[in-house]
Amino acid sequence: MRRVTILGATGSIGQNTLDLIRRAPDEFQVVALTGGRNIAQLADDAREFRAELAVTAHLELLTDLRSALSGSDVAVAAGEDALIEAAQRPADWTMSAIVGVAGLAPGLAALEQGGTLALANKESLVTAGPLLLATAARHGAHILPVDSEHSAIFQALTGEDRAAIERVIITASGGAFRDRPLDDLAHVGVDEASTHPNWDMGQRITIDSASMFNKALEVIEAKEFFGLEPEQIEVLVHPQSTVHALVGFRDGALMAHVGPPDMRHAIGFALNWPDRRHLPVARLDLSAIGRLDFALPDPARYPALALAWQVMAAGGHSGAIFNAAKERALDHFIAGHIGFLEMSALVARTLDHGLCDAQAQIEPGEITLESVRRCDHLTRQQMDRLIAA
Ligand code: NDP
Repeated sequence: MRRVTILGATGSIGQNTLDLIRRAPDEFQVVALTGGRNIAQLADDAREFRAELAVTAHLELLTDLRSALSGSDVAVAAGEDALIEAAQRPADWTMSAIVGVAGLAPGLAALEQGGTLALANKESLVTAGPLLLATAARHGAHILPVDSEHSAIFQALTGEDRAAIERVIITASGGAFRDRPLDDLAHVGVDEASTHPNWDMGQRITIDSASMFNKALEVIEAKEFFGLEPEQIEVLVHPQSTVHALVGFRDGALMAHVGPPDMRHAIGFALNWPDRRHLPVARLDLSAIGRLDFALPDPARYPALALAWQVMAAGGHSGAIFNAAKERALDHFIAGHIGFLEMSALVARTLDHGLCDAQAQIEPGEITLESVRRCDHLTRQQMDRLIAA
């Protein structure tokens, strides 16, 4: 039995992971499940999977979680420290699927016990890539990508010499507003932005797909994870979401990963790695799909995308600044304080200021959990000031 922990179990990735575990009850033993505000889901899953421990990130919800699990053998806890303790429980495989920079510290704690970290939380690599990779190396842990594009690159690289990589092409669906007239974009609302044409995901990543902030994060994630140069990474809009990524080699060959838009493929690949097992995903009928389209992203429609290359060129803590500015802009968009296009404009301004302001206030040099947290905090304050002005 493999011992598995799921950080962010109540979310979209967490639920898809549990769906796969549910289908193989003799193979996996659930150690810890963590969630945020969805106490009913967390308690139901903890009971069903006989978890050793259930943790909510929110201290004030501990009583609710305790009463929802009364009469069961599941231990309960709450708060940031309890998330770390959940990640530190001995496990062979941990899914990192908390949304946002909040996933960084528990992910690091999981790596410190060795084993395998399936990384959906791309924010960890964007804000602290060198720290994450060094921690994994120090403790002999494996990190496996769960983002479908990065899982696709990882799979296309199986058996290949990484020195032979010439370029990597990451595809993007184009999100909710791919075909909307440009003039409409300033006025689109949260509900529309929360509807993805192809993928069923959490609200925040769905809105980030419409703006392509998500793709910008993925570009940085690819640079960090695969050790690429920024100019080796390309993005193409591919409305069918069938080809998830392509790797171009120095002999001119392109290796594509092709599959249905179902996160259970990438999650299942990481869950079963290094084996390949049967997965309950639809089999593609390419003749029914008929055609696959690719186009360059329009910079006027997706101004957030180019910021990735600005961040990669700046290096240091710019990933942490970018992510914090993006997360805060998204909070304000969801709250109705700013419009859809204002998100990228404000993040661009914060990057220009932030690379001076926030970086000037933290120790230059090594990226640590503390330096990332400080940067995150300063940038959020700066974003709030900008929006209030
Ligand atoms: P969801 O919003 O659906 O779920 C997020 C999870 O994190 C929930 O369990 C939520 O708890 C929990 N959570 C929220 N805030 C906190 C916090 N401050 N501290 C601890 N836990 C918290 O997100 P997704 O599942 O869509 O995404 C998770 C991660 O995976 C993100 O980094 C995303 O970018 C990445 N990803 C997602 C994909 C997808 O298909 N959804 C694809 C590729 C990557 P609760 O809901 O109980 O409040």
